[in-house]
Amino acid sequence: MVSDKGRGRIVMHVDLDYFYAQCEELRRNDLKDKPVVVCVYSARGGDSGAVSTCNYKARAYGVKAGMPIVQAKRLLKDAQDAVFLPVDEQYYTSVSDTVMAILRANSDAFEQVSIDEAYMDVSIRCKDFDGAVELASRLKDEIKATVGLTCSIGIGMNKLIAKMASDYRKPDGLTVVRPEDTQEFINPMSVGKLLWVGKKTEATLNSMGIYTVGDLAKVSIDRLIREFGRKMGVYLYNASRGIDEEPVKESAVKQISRMTTLKSNTSVIEDMLDDLNTLSMEVHKSLVEQRLLFRSVGVMLVYEDLSMRSRVRVLKHYTDRVDDIMRYARVLLEEMLEESNKAVRRLGVKVSDLASVEGQETLQRFM
Ligand SMILES: [Mg+2]
Repeated sequence: MVSDKGRGRIVMHVDLDYFYAQCEELRRNDLKDKPVVVCVYSARGGDSGAVSTCNYKARAYGVKAGMPIVQAKRLLKDAQDAVFLPVDEQYYTSVSDTVMAILRANSDAFEQVSIDEAYMDVSIRCKDFDGAVELASRLKDEIKATVGLTCSIGIGMNKLIAKMASDYRKPDGLTVVRPEDTQEFINPMSVGKLLWVGKKTEATLNSMGIYTVGDLAKVSIDRLIREFGRKMGVYLYNASRGIDEEPVKESAVKQISRMTTLKSNTSVIEDMLDDLNTLSMEVHKSLVEQRLLFRSVGVMLVYEDLSMRSRVRVLKHYTDRVDDIMRYARVLLEEMLEESNKAVRRLGVKVSDLASVEGQETLQRFM
């Protein structure tokens, strides 16, 4: 936990915009101006299943996450160019990994909450909120330049406010809520915008005549505890005042991966070696930046028919040598090419089984 007694904290919440659908736009340029709906198809086949994410073009037709695919198709029946795609978790993860590594490298404490959301404590590296705004806009540029994605960032004095700030202006937003403006910022919001206030709590609050956070801030703590129990009552009392002591909890990196689309589909290893080495070096760069060691190397292939395979080799020792990544990635690629003669469309390299350099130094001292 990063703390600063004199000044309080500066926390950012980063939310990648309409993430799965934006990833699909990233690899298919022709999707940009069309309604794109990424779906989780159920095992029953056909159009059974639900919408996972959709872009803003699709949202204009009323399509929403969680909606049955059939309903989304009905809403989009007049949009000739609507595109429905299945979720490609592995691809989104590799895109997310790249973004998260950039964010982590710019945080004092970093907590990834999901594939497309993270909190950053920047209290030490940023002198003040102006410094944090500068950092946030630099991060937005860097993510746009290196990955091609837009995100929305909120800055506040804690996680609660940072999250509400990132939600305030989307997509491609940057919202800063300074400590002195916090109450004014949250007062007009509906109580449902508070973290942990779900539909049920919101309905109960509404039935008590409490609609906005400002309404909530006028209610006594005793009444809130009577109505919601101690834990939730105290939480609501504090949240309505913008108070949130939750630290940004450092989360461990599980793997680092990079993927690329080959210039042309091929099953010849010589055509892939340049890309394989470049990917290995990029993975290595991120590894070193985060002061990590690895013990497993993996290669991922997406074939021309879009089927996917991956293979991992576990090494005897932890290492951070780029030569090890290149060498084992090549061995794995050779093995995989021998087993299938389908042409490869996308190639990826990853390292996993990660440990921090510091942890290993401590370990070795005791061995
Ligand atoms: Mg998002």
